Amino acid sequence: MKNKVLNGLAFNDEVRFFIADTKELVNKLQQTNQSLAVASAALGRSASITGIMGLMLKDNQEVTSILKGDGPLGQLISIANDQGHVRAMVTNPQVEIPLKENGKLDVRSAVGENGSLKIIKNLNMREPFTGEVDLLGGEVAEDFTYYFTVSEQTPTAITAGVLVDVDYSIKSSGVLLVQLLPNASSETIDKLETNIYALKSISNLLLEKSLEDILKDMFGEDFRVLEEQNLEFRCTCSQERFLNSIRVLKHDEIKEIKEDETIEVECHFCRQKYNIDTKLI
Ligand code: ZN
Repeated sequence: MKNKVLNGLAFNDEVRFFIADTKELVNKLQQTNQSLAVASAALGRSASITGIMGLMLKDNQEVTSILKGDGPLGQLISIANDQGHVRAMVTNPQVEIPLKENGKLDVRSAVGENGSLKIIKNLNMREPFTGEVDLLGGEVAEDFTYYFTVSEQTPTAITAGVLVDVDYSIKSSGVLLVQLLPNASSETIDKLETNIYALKSISNLLLEKSLEDILKDMFGEDFRVLEEQNLEFRCTCSQERFLNSIRVLKHDEIKEIKEDETIEVECHFCRQKYNIDTKLI
């Protein structure tokens, strides 16, 4: 199932926004990763934001985010393209840590406060674009915000949230990303800061409001939606892709693989298993 994304302009066309409900996407990520609550929250946030970054691309370009902190979750890898296809995985999906004092999931401790966020954009050129920043605290949205500001010199504010139900399914998940355009006045900047600060968590808002209603909370009547897009879980694995990745292994590794008639490989993103006839290698 597809998730709705709206993008457009606000505050006298001085601000660009993307807003997405990513509940179905994150539900699918929870199922494929078999993740417990805090892993779903961290992975859902990073995959939702990476999904939006994918929609900023064009012509089959792809973006990968690798968020690696020193906490128990390990690495969070999300990959998205301009079509809104997203896949994502986390090293240790079954991590359980105590809730924060306010009863919320402790994403920061699960991710770790020290580490890095690396962004790799495959822009169909010879070399991919890469940018890397130190983690700003491991709450995910802040780390991506910091990346945009430092690595892409684009003043950006991002809020992303995931609510996980008692059975580990996803109750709600969403992301709002706003960027100041070069023509933004200081008045617009002030207004934006105040309104973002006043906005409740997006995952809570999505329990009772539509994307359009949340945009009204944020921008009043001063916004226009330019485009409706979609995000959905989709993996790009295939037998041919696995064959290609085996074919580049070292000679003696291939020889060892070919000792068996067939081998079973599993995609880390979608858990699809392939029985590969080693004669094809
Ligand atoms: Zn796959």
